[in-house]
Amino acid sequence: MVEALPYWWEAAPPSRLARRALERRCDVVIVGAGYTGLSAGLTLARAGRSVQIFDRQRPGEGASTRNGGIASGNLRPSYKQMRRKFGEARAQALLAEAKMAREELAEFVKRENIECDFRLVGRFTGAAKASEYERLAREADHLRKTLRIEAHAVPKVEQRSVLGTDFYHGGLLRDDIGGLHPAKFFAGLCQAARAAGATVHGETAVLGFAAKAGGFAVETARGPVEADHVIVATNGYTDGADPWLRRRLVPVCSRIIATAPLSNNLMAQLMPKQVMCAETRKLHYYYRPSPDGTRILFGGRDGSIAGDPAWPTHQLKRALADIFPVLEGVAITHSWWGHVAMNRDMIPRIFSRDGLRYAVGYCGSGVVWARWAGQKAAWQILGDARARSALEFRPPPAIPLYNGTAWFLPAVYAWLGLSDRLGRPRRYRASS
Ligand SMILES: Cc1cc2nc3c(=O)[nH]c(=O)nc-3n(C[C@H](O)[C@H](O)[C@H](O)COP(=O)(O)OP(=O)(O)OC[C@H]3O[C@@H](n4cnc5c(N)ncnc54)[C@H](O)[C@@H]3O)c2cc1C
Repeated sequence: MVEALPYWWEAAPPSRLARRALERRCDVVIVGAGYTGLSAGLTLARAGRSVQIFDRQRPGEGASTRNGGIASGNLRPSYKQMRRKFGEARAQALLAEAKMAREELAEFVKRENIECDFRLVGRFTGAAKASEYERLAREADHLRKTLRIEAHAVPKVEQRSVLGTDFYHGGLLRDDIGGLHPAKFFAGLCQAARAAGATVHGETAVLGFAAKAGGFAVETARGPVEADHVIVATNGYTDGADPWLRRRLVPVCSRIIATAPLSNNLMAQLMPKQVMCAETRKLHYYYRPSPDGTRILFGGRDGSIAGDPAWPTHQLKRALADIFPVLEGVAITHSWWGHVAMNRDMIPRIFSRDGLRYAVGYCGSGVVWARWAGQKAAWQILGDARARSALEFRPPPAIPLYNGTAWFLPAVYAWLGLSDRLGRPRRYRASS
């Protein structure tokens, strides 16, 4: 029997908070109690603002307690793509901000004394094609020269010293990326925000909001609230309360499976450096050892339409065995999923619309970005000079013919899967 709840919830399940009275007026209402909303709430409460954070589920029950815990601050487009689209200075600023955000996360965890198994173990990105190894080697050079990030190419002959597989054509190892226990991190962040004075209302949906003289009228499932400011922090769980945003973000289902505990010898053979792992396939997988080093947690897209977990779980298991053939037939104990939010140019962003503030669109890399962007949105409200950010873009454009149902995803997956398969040896084509 495969458990459908996240592996992380065994140590830190989202809690049902004691119901607090609704304040009819406050300085700031935040919609969504994940990393973004709580980080914004913590920053504002510490600056003396009255803050109410609403979540329609239990706080953290969105992506923030379900994710892989890989603290990458990843940007999906390559440096070259960003340079072409936004210019050299902006591309460089985005990479520099990612570095700052990663470093600041590590400092934050330490400063706030959050026990979340954070370890800066490094990340290996496997090249699925030989040509991609060359690109990764150039990226390593660029990271070292322009950002002083310890990064180097690992040729295929040395790959097994980092990862016990011959699946990739070598890869990129960088030292500045680590992993944490996402649900423990969430619990620590939530505790800090509440201790600072932010009120968190779980299981209380925001139904809508509208500008009014001097602020906003917010309709919640427990009645109306007035606020000077509203921050929307709903990311992949954006619902009909904000139909405008829903047309701009595509919630994509991501699923993770956890293997049963593996022997120490096998783990040492498969993950000798216990690094976080990514790869260059367009339909890529991400994986890591569990914080206690006993299992592999393996994630990727969930392309199921019927919602039956058996098929996507099986697909992930096959993909895992493609990379580590010794895991063919391994027992899977957990298989769960959540929503990540994609936007048209695949860049996380902070923006305003008619006075409402938004921090969304992390494209599957919110462990670093969401906390950072939430804090930036709060600093904007406070008029703090630290609010300046390379993530300040115009709102993402609406997606044509899209109103919340991603009917086009199966075609997108088919196309990306095909381009992954082209140019790969036949024995590796099965599940890409
Ligand atoms: C399976 C999976 C694996 C991932 N792996 C990684 C990883 O390894 N590394 C990484 O960096 N990122 C990863 N991510 C992405 C990361 O988890 C997210 O980017 C991040 O958690 C976003 O945080 P958030 O606070 O913005 O949104 P969420 O945590 O999703 O919170 C949004 C909240 O808004 C609430 N909400 C929505 N509408 C309303 C409403 N009308 N009223 C009240 N509340 C509302 C929802 O209930 C939800 O709790 C992964 C995500 C998933 C799903």
